[in-house]
Amino acid sequence: MPLMNRTFEIPRRSVECKLCALKLTAGDYYYSFLDSLTAVPERHDFCMSCWEKEGKERAGSHGFWKARSAMKSPPVPPSKRKAMRALSLLKEYTGAPLCEAEQFILALYLARKKVLALRSEISAERGIYQYYEVVETSEMIPVKAIELSSLDFTNLQAAIAKKLADETS
Ligand SMILES: [Zn+2]
Repeated sequence: MPLMNRTFEIPRRSVECKLCALKLTAGDYYYSFLDSLTAVPERHDFCMSCWEKEGKERAGSHGFWKARSAMKSPPVPPSKRKAMRALSLLKEYTGAPLCEAEQFILALYLARKKVLALRSEISAERGIYQYYEVVETSEMIPVKAIELSSLDFTNLQAAIAKKLADETS
């Protein structure tokens, strides 16, 4: 397993509120933040009322987000299958240093498709990492933010399109 993958692995959303242990079930809203001061960014999830009481304060200057536990997942419509392939491609690539630009472009694509949601940006030694959440499963995927020229972007997009096409054949 690539080293980076381990370093930045973040547990998916906990099943319960960090403070009162209320189960966060389908359809519940909750608040989360990433504590980036720990060696490995640590995720904190709160139910709505604990967030108001204490969570907000704990989050301090860390970026936080509000989200809703996924409802039962419906069957994937054909229009979304390509996005699902892109997601598994991104997961395979997480941590492979040579493919950072491709990861970044895949993440942008998936965010546009609302499969991923950008939750947090954290500066690390090697640059800025964006933490995307897989909306359906609450998994977090760290992606290094890359400066791309429009030329790189077009080339990489074509390369990714080819990889996605290859997977179906
Ligand atoms: Zn709570």
